[in-house]
Amino acid sequence: MKYDVVIIGSGLGGLQCGYILSLEGYNVCILEKNNQLGGCLQTFRRKNTVFDTGMHYIGSMDEGQVLNNFFRYLKLTGNLKLKRMDEDGYDVVKYNEKEYKFAMGHDRFIETMLEYFPKEREALTKYTAKLKEVSKSVDLFNFQETAYHQTGYLHYFSVGIDDYLSTITKDKTLKSVLLGLTPLYAGTKEQSPLYLPMIIHSSFIDSAYRFIDGGSQISDLLAGYITGNGGTIIRKAEVTGLIVESGRIKAVKVNNSEIIEGKTFISNVHPKKLLEIADNVPFRPAYKNRINSIDETIGAFTLYLSMKENAFKYINKNYYVFKTDKVWAAPKYSPEEWPMGYMIHFSPSSDNGKYTKAIIVNTYMRWEDVSAWENTTVEKRGDEYREFKRNKAEKLFELIESDFPGIRSSTEAYYTSTPLTYRDYIGAPSGGFYGMMKDFRDPLRSMVMPRTTVPNLLHTGQNINIHGVIGVTICAVLTCSEILGRQYLIGKMRKA
Ligand SMILES: Cc1cc2nc3c(=O)[nH]c(=O)nc-3n(C[C@H](O)[C@H](O)[C@H](O)COP(=O)(O)OP(=O)(O)OC[C@H]3O[C@@H](n4cnc5c(N)ncnc54)[C@H](O)[C@@H]3O)c2cc1C
Repeated sequence: MKYDVVIIGSGLGGLQCGYILSLEGYNVCILEKNNQLGGCLQTFRRKNTVFDTGMHYIGSMDEGQVLNNFFRYLKLTGNLKLKRMDEDGYDVVKYNEKEYKFAMGHDRFIETMLEYFPKEREALTKYTAKLKEVSKSVDLFNFQETAYHQTGYLHYFSVGIDDYLSTITKDKTLKSVLLGLTPLYAGTKEQSPLYLPMIIHSSFIDSAYRFIDGGSQISDLLAGYITGNGGTIIRKAEVTGLIVESGRIKAVKVNNSEIIEGKTFISNVHPKKLLEIADNVPFRPAYKNRINSIDETIGAFTLYLSMKENAFKYINKNYYVFKTDKVWAAPKYSPEEWPMGYMIHFSPSSDNGKYTKAIIVNTYMRWEDVSAWENTTVEKRGDEYREFKRNKAEKLFELIESDFPGIRSSTEAYYTSTPLTYRDYIGAPSGGFYGMMKDFRDPLRSMVMPRTTVPNLLHTGQNINIHGVIGVTICAVLTCSEILGRQYLIGKMRKA
């Protein structure tokens, strides 16, 4: 059977493309190497506790806001079990042992921050104005039918967030607190563009929500719609090769044996992984060299805590905790200093609103810390690796216990993951948090467009525009626009 569109990978981007194109009558086939769909959206269950792996909260989901509008078109709005987070401080940055709340709404954000920084009204006003300006520059946020190559937002890719903040305030603590959300983009001072933190913060400042019982609700719903529209989804189907004919992709090879033919192919896998799989495809050498030379974001060590029944109260906020006064230093830890901070998320569950069953703690971990086991696979990494993870978990536990007393004794069991886990489950080279690093010093070099140098092969997913639910959704629209036409698709989305 020859499909209209073959999609490699069922991450958020692959599923969104599958939904959009199947809705438009295309005969789509999604191939996913894992048993579970969703990539970073996937959850896992231990002793009746559901853990999210890569989706802890989403922004701008109130009526009329950006994600709500996109999700209405994707039939997700109104169909997800969500919990609105604390309006007075959905995120808290803990810096130099003091807590700073990030409130919802631009005005409330300013007023809350003024309690800590009474002389900084002008800086905070400029900051929130910039949030609005940057998000306004993305025409897709407003479903605007603008010119195809809308590039207004590119300007914000060529300014560093650190440099920008220095222009609005001389208060080093305020600057550090505003940079306290760096773990949301695994940023570095030398590379992170203004665009990234501004788009992410402007999404959450509008409204912030958690998933009740896990983010895999999104993949379950989208997968159901796709098959309902006549699409095919095949699990445990790893694409291991691409077959080329006359400069175009003719088919993919699955699990080194089965051949699946298509007219158009969309890759939701990491672009460097695609180049590995497609080593016979005649990409231009300059294209290959550029993709392969882009840095990866740092990876994560994650502690998943399964809590005793009614033992630890649910907290409706995320905490970004720094154990250094230099926020940019956190990824550059020495072995003795690790971990220099962490982010902690508390999961709401449908059957107990007062207490939490699952707590997830993420901290930076570089690839070199786990590279000794790079030739191993999941569950077969040996005793030394288990011991390594146990030691790391103990160190992290010590830190979180100092901020959240009683968390240890309330924990029934814990589980851990490292950058190796993300490499093997998602296919992220060196297990990076959010894919490839954006670099304001050379923005075009670190950008990947949906089109490749092969006419019927497109990219989608977090490496195209930006990561996260908003970024990946924009990428899916950009990718599908290459097939359906931009104005046509936006017109459909506006009518939804
Ligand atoms: C720890 C962590 C926390 C996060 N928290 C949030 C958050 O709170 N909010 C938010 O908005 N974003 C968050 N993100 C980011 C967000 O999860 C990602 O940006 C997004 O889910 C990536 O989607 P994607 O479409 O790029 O696909 P991916 O999730 O990268 O999925 C790619 C898919 O392709 C499959 N695949 C790979 N190779 C092959 C192959 N050869 N053949 C077939 N299939 C293949 C993989 O198995 C996977 O299913 C977080 C990420 C991480 C890592």
